[in-house]
Amino acid sequence: MPEPLPPGSTIGILGGGQLGRMLSVAASRLGLKTQIYNDTPDAPAFDVAAASTVGAYEDASLLSDFAKRVDVVTCEFENVPAKALHVAGEIAPVFPPAKAFSVAQDRLAEKDFVSGLRIPVAPYAAVDNLGDLNKALARVGTPALLKTRRFGYDGKGQVAIHTQCEAETALEKIGAAPSLLEGIVPFQRELSVIAVRGQDGETRFYDVVENVHQGGILATSRVPASISDSVVFEARKIAGTIAEALNYVGVLCVEMFQREGEEPGLIVNEFAPRVHNSGHWTIDACRVSQFENHVRAICGWPLGDVSRHSNAVMTNLIGDDVEAWPALAAEPGLGLHLYGKAEARPGRKMGHVTRLTPKTSD
Ligand code: AMP
Repeated sequence: MPEPLPPGSTIGILGGGQLGRMLSVAASRLGLKTQIYNDTPDAPAFDVAAASTVGAYEDASLLSDFAKRVDVVTCEFENVPAKALHVAGEIAPVFPPAKAFSVAQDRLAEKDFVSGLRIPVAPYAAVDNLGDLNKALARVGTPALLKTRRFGYDGKGQVAIHTQCEAETALEKIGAAPSLLEGIVPFQRELSVIAVRGQDGETRFYDVVENVHQGGILATSRVPASISDSVVFEARKIAGTIAEALNYVGVLCVEMFQREGEEPGLIVNEFAPRVHNSGHWTIDACRVSQFENHVRAICGWPLGDVSRHSNAVMTNLIGDDVEAWPALAAEPGLGLHLYGKAEARPGRKMGHVTRLTPKTSD
């Protein structure tokens, strides 16, 4: 086991969005510094970091200069190119491990990986052309979702197919990109598990989160989820199995469906090798947030207390929602988090709020 990085050390973060911003704030509380690397100059994390680099993720020489200035490298988005991780990894330790990114970046690799661990996933088939799609529809059935294998997020890069005759139009809508057909899972609820795994393999789990998406974008996250202890146990077991199989270090989020009418009935939708929007409530409702625990894990520190002191509902402020900030700022007991983004475009995550109530169960 390497020595823990002492206070005063510097974390390099690839990506400068709100997740990088909240990671930086958490790191600063522990006396650690951050440097941010982002491909555009308007990154929310730049406001709260010791230094910032604007450059392409393909720029090997800029990336290696960046890695030389930091003690450890991490990422706050999952589509960081494999090459960038490799370049940084030649110079500094990189956590989470590159494999977590290569698997999570490709929906097909991700489904193969998760089902290879004997964890249930939705029925799926790879699609590269109309012939594949017709065969896939015969196997997977309808309704189904055609998803691009790469670069899909917040419901982007997805088309629903209700009948076989929609196949050709769906393929046109998705473009020529390699894709995946996935059966639509009739679910009673969506859940996520935020886990943190240290360099020594110790793994801790926050309380299971119940999520509601609108238009493919996370709208609210609630804890405790209205699920039985056996579902909690199973959900954590699944997340722990994935973390261990990846030899993971840092915070990992595993998103799941609970099938309609089944107990536990859990199906993994996807995992994110990073801190996650469905874990934002941990800032206000837990002793140690997902952001601080990610920092602790990658720096080789003891993991922090994941216990929850309150019930919480986190609501994203998307697009114009953020204009309500004066009223939100006046609301007693509300945790208001604004990401400092200049323009409130539709669908853009501008901030979030967390409402706490007294804790009712574990
Ligand atoms: P994704 O981009 O895969 O995270 O999907 C975004 C959201 O779309 C999910 O959180 C679900 O609400 C919905 N969704 C995605 N895949 C499926 C599926 N196979 N069955 C039912 N709903 C899905």
